[in-house]
Amino acid sequence: MFSPSLVYMRRKEVSALLIGRFQPFHNGHLEVIKTISGQCDRMIIGIGSAQLSHTFENPFTAGERHLMISRAFHDEGLDNFFLVPIVDIHRYAIWVAHVASLVPPFQDVYTNNPLTRRLFEEAGYEVRSAPIFNREVYSGTEIRRRIVNRQEWQSLVPRGVAETIIEVNGDQRLIDITKDHSPEVTI
Ligand code: ATP
Ligand code: MG
Repeated sequence: MFSPSLVYMRRKEVSALLIGRFQPFHNGHLEVIKTISGQCDRMIIGIGSAQLSHTFENPFTAGERHLMISRAFHDEGLDNFFLVPIVDIHRYAIWVAHVASLVPPFQDVYTNNPLTRRLFEEAGYEVRSAPIFNREVYSGTEIRRRIVNRQEWQSLVPRGVAETIIEVNGDQRLIDITKDHSPEVTI
């Protein structure tokens, strides 16, 4: 006979959310995620501005970014994560509800962005600061700048990310996009 006392109760687990555009995912992102993953049971990585691709600031599709991150995590032996694409809605007042409607339940949020902090705190989440790693070079802007200037960029990203960018011809795409729009590199 059914007995409520025998119902299996899962241990309370802590999930942490980190949102980025990951254009592309780089070694700084990987380091911060490795640090955070030791402080929670599960990481939820929101792939922000998921609807954007093929622009200077957002060259890669959400699917390409999903593949880059999956490969990087696989190579690191990280398996306690969910990757969730999140499209922009351009309405700050309901953005947290939008995010929460798309991702598994979470308790903690890691961010250094003051607006993101405010929005999640107002919604009652525990917001923590994320550690920063070598920001001068571990930066999406710097990596995109190097790609369009045909400088070395592969050492700034995990191997699975470089493989994905090359596989989808993403480096050439970025160079072409830049040529199409302006003779100067302004990113
Ligand atoms: P872009 O220059 O295109 O804005 P980015 O390097 O800032 O790229 P994002 O996708 O905007 O990357 O960042 C996602 C999150 O990762 C942000 O919260 C950001 O603070 C964090 N982050 C970015 N670079 C680093 C780094 N070097 N160390 C730790 N966290 C980082
Ligand atoms: Mg950024």
